[in-house]
Amino acid sequence: MSEPVALDLSTRSAGARGKPPRHFADLSPDERAAAVTDLGQPAFRARQLATHYYGHLTTDADEMTDLPAASRQALVEALLPPLLTQSKRLTADRGTTVKTLWHLFDGARVESVLMRYPHRSTLCVSSQAGCGLACAFCATGRLGLTRNLSTAEIVDQVRAAGRMLADGDLPGGPTRLSNVVFMGMGEPLANYARVMAAVRTLVAPVPDGFGLSARNVTVSTVGLAPAIDKLADEGIPVTLAVSLHAPDDELRGELVPVNTRWSVAQVLDSARRYFERTGRRVSIEYALMRDVNDQAWRADLLGELLNARGRGWVHANPIPLNPVPGSRWTASEPSVEAEFVARLRAHGIPTTVRDTRGSEIDGACGQLAGQEDE
Ligand code: SAH
Repeated sequence: MSEPVALDLSTRSAGARGKPPRHFADLSPDERAAAVTDLGQPAFRARQLATHYYGHLTTDADEMTDLPAASRQALVEALLPPLLTQSKRLTADRGTTVKTLWHLFDGARVESVLMRYPHRSTLCVSSQAGCGLACAFCATGRLGLTRNLSTAEIVDQVRAAGRMLADGDLPGGPTRLSNVVFMGMGEPLANYARVMAAVRTLVAPVPDGFGLSARNVTVSTVGLAPAIDKLADEGIPVTLAVSLHAPDDELRGELVPVNTRWSVAQVLDSARRYFERTGRRVSIEYALMRDVNDQAWRADLLGELLNARGRGWVHANPIPLNPVPGSRWTASEPSVEAEFVARLRAHGIPTTVRDTRGSEIDGACGQLAGQEDE
């Protein structure tokens, strides 16, 4: 790689072109109380605002009827400014998959994809506008990195989706958001501090957060090994997904350029440590590409590498490659996919082929490119 990887384990500012407006979801409890008193309001209004935002999922002053009419508007304007402006919404799967394209304050664009299933609802959130990791088969990777999202820009994707579900906007009646996966645009562990602050907010009980269960939050990474180790020390047992895509460094280096920095072995060792620290079984993501990474011997090698690090700590999630315009790669033949899965299972690796929702609206894994007109 010619450019250094944008691996951010610290607290750099959100972007070169200034920061998004101050938002409640970016502030600590003390900062919230101070912001409210600065507006001439009693500090307890911060908790009322939190209940509206995280509990009722609203930023609409008119709905905040427990606040004095005179102060609602001022509080909302100062602390809940709009961060995401909906620019387009596409639906698929009979309305149960919804992709939203958002414009951010500086014109950057990101997408989130909401998927309703019979017994859960999952939001796929973006953590960066674009992505700097340049995986060859991923539409977002072709864009390059525009900037990191702020914590509130991530959190507000979740609030907006929760509100859609609560309002019954998806078929099946009103429901709650149960799962969040960091599988939208960007590499979450390259925007570490802000993603972790967002994760803490997702799992904090209402009114401090959305009250999701940590196991229902999945952080998917291209394999930034030191950041996986850091995540293991956070004490929040989120589900970790590792985008492996090849068991050998030669091929993985082609598909996932950051592999030249952290090899297959280093990534798998970190993933194994993650399991030890958290007790959470790790997912290995593997996009099956015809005649590229779908050979039976690669399934065997993957099974051996996983078993070499113990039993019962990992499961495999192959997914047929979703088409990306201009890419030379296509999905594996179904029979080849079936053989790949059978080989992994023969090694004792629990394996589930991931379902690919929303591919016809370019809302599936690896297809998010923030296009205005498709
Ligand atoms: N940067 C993170 C999260 C975003 S991508 C990561 O790499 O894990 C979410 C998942 O979709 C990853 O496993 C990614 O490798 C996969 N993916 C990317 N492009 C894809 C494509 N065209 N078809 C199927 N999966 C793809």
